[in-house]
Amino acid sequence: MYGFGFVKGLTTTIKHFIGTYTDEFNWAGKGGRYYNDEALKVRQSLKTEGAITVMYPEEKLEMPERFRFVPFLIMDDPAPGQKAGKDWCTSCGICAKVCPPQCIWIERGKKPNGRPKPEPEGFYIDIDICMNCGYCSEYCPFDAIKMDHDYEMASYDRSASHIHDKERLSKPISYWRAIAPGRAADEERRRVEAAEAKNKKKAARGR
Ligand code: SF4
Ligand code: SF4
Repeated sequence: MYGFGFVKGLTTTIKHFIGTYTDEFNWAGKGGRYYNDEALKVRQSLKTEGAITVMYPEEKLEMPERFRFVPFLIMDDPAPGQKAGKDWCTSCGICAKVCPPQCIWIERGKKPNGRPKPEPEGFYIDIDICMNCGYCSEYCPFDAIKMDHDYEMASYDRSASHIHDKERLSKPISYWRAIAPGRAADEERRRVEAAEAKNKKKAARGR
């Protein structure tokens, strides 16, 4: 029937409009419809009544594990009294090679005898150029670079540097385990399996 779609759409809009107010009434005395974690969960589920708007920045949605924003570097958890732990990055340069917009640059560390050492002296990512593709993280053979969940990087200062250096990029492995527990556990299992296979091979060769 001509106009049926229009009436159907309008009915849904009116239903949501009224639902927002009745829902607000339902949550009165239980912490309110907004700025309340429990209410936000319901609002984001199929049980929602009314507008599903998230009142950002006071309210924030939980990030799924696979969410990816700019990369960060993994280091060991710092020992007590230390500011930083050991870097996982070996400065192999693979991430810089595969980065499509070429926004990673690495300064490889040097031993006192001048030979290269498997640690970065400097590591820089131009965050303004990074397109959050996650290639660096996918290709790193050492699980040393991961995609962050921290997306709040806007600043009021135009002169703030958006080239993140090693100090800014480095975060302890416990941070990665906290934001992506499933993936971190999976990677850990694969590392253990690889180490065991390597040891077995070594033992077989020594026989
Ligand atoms: S690929 Fe991994 S180990 Fe190699 S330089 Fe990049 S972050 Fe470091
Ligand atoms: S996420 Fe993509 S664009 Fe950003 S640094 Fe990694 S490879 Fe480059």
